[in-house]
Amino acid sequence: MSTQRDYYEILGISKDSTETEIKKAYRKLAMKYHPDKNKDDDAEDKFKEISEAYAVLSDTEKREQYDRFGHAGIDGRYSQEDIFRNADFGGFDDLGDIFGSIFGRSGFGGFGGGGGRPRHGPARGSDLRYDLKITLENAANGVETTINIPRAEGCETCGGTGAKAGTSPRRCATCHGSGQVTHARDTPFGRFMSTSTCGACNGMGETIDEPCPACNGTGKTKKVKKLSVKIPKGADNGLRLKVRGEGEGGTRGGPSGDLYVVIHVEPHELFERGGDDILYELPISFSQAALGDDVMVPTLHGKVKMSIKAGTQTHSILRLKGKGMPHLHGRGQGDQLVRVIVTTPTNISGEQKELFKHLVDLEKGTGKKHTKGGKGIFEKVKDVL
Ligand SMILES: [Zn+2]
Ligand SMILES: [Zn+2]
Repeated sequence: MSTQRDYYEILGISKDSTETEIKKAYRKLAMKYHPDKNKDDDAEDKFKEISEAYAVLSDTEKREQYDRFGHAGIDGRYSQEDIFRNADFGGFDDLGDIFGSIFGRSGFGGFGGGGGRPRHGPARGSDLRYDLKITLENAANGVETTINIPRAEGCETCGGTGAKAGTSPRRCATCHGSGQVTHARDTPFGRFMSTSTCGACNGMGETIDEPCPACNGTGKTKKVKKLSVKIPKGADNGLRLKVRGEGEGGTRGGPSGDLYVVIHVEPHELFERGGDDILYELPISFSQAALGDDVMVPTLHGKVKMSIKAGTQTHSILRLKGKGMPHLHGRGQGDQLVRVIVTTPTNISGEQKELFKHLVDLEKGTGKKHTKGGKGIFEKVKDVL
């Protein structure tokens, strides 16, 4: 959540709106963007944004500060806990639903104890992460692959209730289903009340007399799901693909979490990747560098012919346009950059040695003009190498 948008603008209301108008606007938007009702990717962020706006504007003091000083007038960012404490969820039938979906996803655990919420409502399943290794060729061409995800799904035997077939969970007698118990303590300063999670039901608000044998009363069973995922062309390290609803199963009819497939591109023996460009190092000989040559160069899209100009220096970079990685989510592709490395020959033959000596003489300006066979010295060198 990193919004600096105007809170009135977020709720679509004017600066002089009454409390009732603010509440009305908020409820309408909250219903629309609630992540369990709205499956758009940005619904969750929108929902948090409008909740934040409402938390400020519904509080007379904070609203005044905001009106006078803008975002700077609000003490830091609201924690999510603040937002939900202040917000009014009267428009929803099931509080557990809302909290489950937001905090299950963000890993926020603040509602476990004393949050004031019985936990026996439907709860959204956890999100899962799957790390997938692919080759650079797969990343270049895109690939569809099957992955196996071990995950918890709702138990079919008991329908996710955790209670043995023919029985059903009972409301907890200790907390009467609220999931928490209140203790009163009398002290010289007066009576103190404190609330804690009900130990009899661990805050679930219900107890199971006879657990379902298939899931040991957890309501969930481990299964391995085979899933086909499509890796788009141009995928790079760290790319997260969201597969909606393929995370762990929800509890008591709650929605499943999402699966995130995180892409790892394996290093390639020939190519190095820099964004959408591919770097390749091509060793060439002295004579190729001096005289020029046409060579075949491997690319991710097959071999292509490349011309080396006469007089090419070592470490110069030649560009093969459009032979790099495809742009992710877009048209066109990067280039392949070929870094030419002029290599010094080793283990040269006697004839080569003679020619190099001749070359040295020429470079010193002491050599005779070489005319044998009508070929220049460089041609000669090239033939031998
Ligand atoms: Zn079961
Ligand atoms: Zn209880």
